[in-house]
Amino acid sequence: MIRVPRGTVIRDQATGQVIKDLSGDEPFVVAKGGNGGWGNTHFATPTRQAPRFAKPGQPGVEREIVLELKLLADVGLVGFPNVGKSTLLSMVSAARPKIANYHFTTLVPNLGVVRVGEEQSFVMADIPGIIEGAAGGAGLGHDFLRHIDRCRLLLHLVDVSGSEGRDPVQDVETINAELAGYSEFLAARPQIIVANKTDLLGDDRAPAERLRAYAAEKGFDFLELSAATNTGVQELIHKTWDSLQELPPVFVYEPEFVETEPEVTERDIKVEKVEDYFVISGAWVDKLMGSVNTDDYESRMYMDRMLKNAGVYDRLEELGVNEGDFVVIGEIEFEYVR
Ligand code: GDP
Ligand code: MG
Repeated sequence: MIRVPRGTVIRDQATGQVIKDLSGDEPFVVAKGGNGGWGNTHFATPTRQAPRFAKPGQPGVEREIVLELKLLADVGLVGFPNVGKSTLLSMVSAARPKIANYHFTTLVPNLGVVRVGEEQSFVMADIPGIIEGAAGGAGLGHDFLRHIDRCRLLLHLVDVSGSEGRDPVQDVETINAELAGYSEFLAARPQIIVANKTDLLGDDRAPAERLRAYAAEKGFDFLELSAATNTGVQELIHKTWDSLQELPPVFVYEPEFVETEPEVTERDIKVEKVEDYFVISGAWVDKLMGSVNTDDYESRMYMDRMLKNAGVYDRLEELGVNEGDFVVIGEIEFEYVR
């Protein structure tokens, strides 16, 4: 039993296909254990009252999987480092992400519940800032996009004051190019462009107006904010809530992985001569040997009967086996006796 955070997606390692999205509460069996063995009493019959025959259990399913941690949040915050994402999350929820005036203070995703009314709330996720080239794996950030790739709405925070010397409109384009580089679905997610740090604008409101015009042209919602001075925060919460009412629920992945349990038949038996040895192999044989206890006489008799009925001895004879020749089955080797 492995406990995982809600929202974890189980994928098949080899194909990357989704086996299960653990967004719900139900436990999920990803690899079934083998059937238990049968103790001696199972084989007790009126004539065989104290059988020594016992079958060990069958091996369980082995599977290589990837457990992908994905947060379950309605709203994801995106933007360059230092634009005020963590500050906003701490203003609107009880989450206490690290806030400081340097890049990448947020190293782990943070979730906060934003209360809108008595019964109304949504979940907001703050991920480490995205930097240019992140989607190409160039730096920190790319790995975190998976946490927001099922968010219903993105709040795209921009430092509209240009306090770090960048152009706000260029910032939005850069981040959106990063999102597109990661996934076209994420890039197509509804966004509200949030022009933060308006308190630093002073008298020159031109950058904010340019960003507003750009948002209108691209069809994004737009809002001004000063997270530091708590201006526009309530408006943002309500606008976010209203937008969420129109949007579909958090995406849940459908399983894509089709389990192909190979059917094991006697046709799978391979009997061949390799140098001086006669080798019996194949899935059917593996299954048989998994259920045989070679230390036990009756179990060996059972194996003998199974091999005989499957025609293995006839095939050995066809290959010219002689009394005293070595026969290999799985990990055991025995002398052939007619
Ligand atoms: P993040 O990297 O996007 O999470 O940014 P943070 O929330 O850590 O903020 C980076 C810096 O910007 C911190 O020093 C904040 O105090 C500051 N900051 C955030 N919002 C505002 C704002 O509205 N106005 C001003 N003047 N500073 C802000
Ligand atoms: Mg942060």
